[in-house]
Order: sequence, then structure tokens, then C-alpha cells
Amino acid sequence: MASGEDEPRNCAVCGDRATGYHFHALTCEGCKGFFRRTVNKSTSLICPFAGSCKVNKAQRRHCPACRLQKCLDAGMKKDMILSAEVLALRRARQVQRRAQQASLQLTSSSSVHPSPALATPGA
Ligand SMILES: [Zn+2]
Ligand SMILES: [Zn+2]
Repeated sequence: MASGEDEPRNCAVCGDRATGYHFHALTCEGCKGFFRRTVNKSTSLICPFAGSCKVNKAQRRHCPACRLQKCLDAGMKKDMILSAEVLALRRARQVQRRAQQASLQLTSSSSVHPSPALATPGA
């Protein structure tokens, strides 16, 4: 059997021991919680060192801006947080659209009667 299950997996952001995939990326619990807490206020995060901070297990708390950037670089996506709501919204909209289209088709086909006698097949 492959020994893949026992291999230590490292957080893609800080290198700490990863606990699994969180928001599309393999991360530790710390970075998972950090991302969930921080991503919504990401616009207010500014790195004092032009985004050049090292993000590792020991220093990951020093600069939330760089840590968040590394989260995003690792493939973490904030849309996962709202996915349930977004999906529900999309479904509701789709149902609405389908209902509208169905009613449009019904009215158009009932009001406009394409009569084969008046149609000009050659032209
Ligand atoms: Zn981490
Ligand atoms: Zn930084």
C-alpha cells in the first residue's frame, strides 16, 4: 500500500502541519481561521514592508496583509464562505428566469399564429 496517508502535509501558507483542505487550499487550522476572519476586511490590510514579509509558522502573525496574500496565492478563495447563500440566490434567480421565459413563450405562441397559408416558403 502507498504510504501517502501517513505523509506529513504542510500548510501552503505558513508551513505548519496542515489539517486538510480549507477554502480550496491545504492549510493548518490557524490559517483557516485567519482567512475566514480576515478575508472580509482584506481591503484595510496594508503591509508596512511592501508585501515582502516572510510568512512561516513563527512569523505568520506579524503581518496579516502578507499572510492573507499568501493565502490567496495558495489558492484560497473567499467565495467558499458565502457559497451556500450564493448558490441559493443563483437557484432562485434561475427559477425566476425559467418562469419568465416559459410565460413569454406561452404568450408569444398564443398571440402570434404562424399560419402556413400566409408563409412564403420560397422567399
Ligand atoms: Zn498555516
Ligand atoms: Zn507584510
